[in-house]
Amino acid sequence: MCMVVWEHTFFSEMPDILYHNINQFLKNNQVPDERSLISLMELPENNQLGRILNLFIENNRLRKTESQLIPKLSFTNHCSRHCLFCTLRQHNKKIKRYRLKPEDIIYLSWQIINMGYRTLILQAGHDVNFPFVQIIQVIENLSKQVDLKLILSAGEFSFDQFAALRRAGLDSCMLSESIADPDLFRRYHPYTSYLHRIRAMEWIHSSGLSVSITNRIGLPYQLANTLYGDAMIFKQIGIDLIALEPFIPGIGTPLEKANPVPLSLMLKMIAICRLLNPDSTITISSEIEQIFEGSIEECIKIGANAISFPLEKFYVIDESGNYKFDMKPMEEMMNQYKLQIESAND
Ligand code: SF4
Repeated sequence: MCMVVWEHTFFSEMPDILYHNINQFLKNNQVPDERSLISLMELPENNQLGRILNLFIENNRLRKTESQLIPKLSFTNHCSRHCLFCTLRQHNKKIKRYRLKPEDIIYLSWQIINMGYRTLILQAGHDVNFPFVQIIQVIENLSKQVDLKLILSAGEFSFDQFAALRRAGLDSCMLSESIADPDLFRRYHPYTSYLHRIRAMEWIHSSGLSVSITNRIGLPYQLANTLYGDAMIFKQIGIDLIALEPFIPGIGTPLEKANPVPLSLMLKMIAICRLLNPDSTITISSEIEQIFEGSIEECIKIGANAISFPLEKFYVIDESGNYKFDMKPMEEMMNQYKLQIESAND
């Protein structure tokens, strides 16, 4: 074990060798070895890091894929769980809660579909008071748009429920967070079972849905080899959509005072995920612009091919949880991001 740590440190302390090593692999259309990629993850910000990341940008430029904007519609932000980093955790009194009615989810979704979007993420907290049958109704309605790719990110269900979601027309189910390190998973998800999470992943797959994953980058105690391990697991499982979320300390959470993810770590993780998962959709949340203005373009150049766009900031919510949608600014902001993505595609 000590030996492995020493080897990684050796490489990250000799960035010239690392540069030439990675360059050699990429020139030969090969994926660099594990030691190089973990060393890259550990490499501090300096000129050499910029040089190495440029290798990945050049490599990605040859792929010539188009990037897209993916709306993320949150239909309830109630949650009975307590994940340490998450603003939706049950004990957070600093956010306004809402639970959309099925007819409103359907209305907003069709507005999005009619704007021409063909991938939609429906997202929710672990809301025990949102009836499963209503999720099914929404999916049955939206799947009338035959070329719509519908992804549900609402936690773990039973095998029978995953199968029912598939029959209703759902394409993919999304689960969250790093699974390469069970201890890290347990640290941030108290009262959640790691084994159940793995089982849920198998159920999604065996019910005929594709598996999507959200992974938060930059959490305290998250190690370089855990991030690398996650990227490898995505490859082994064959993840359809990998959502790399920047860790931004959330108000009202135990991590409120932690540091946000450095941009360089996001870029490294995107580069490695892209290399190991050439056919996956890799999304970055537009929230990254809150901490690094103008970073979307960098993320796309190094390997992301989608920007997810949370719609809830355009919900106007009162103290009682009543809500309405602010459609005009929502549309304007989406058009702005579309332009940014088009300029990164050029
Ligand atoms: S990560 Fe999901 S389950 Fe955990 S608190 Fe946030 S919304 Fe709830």
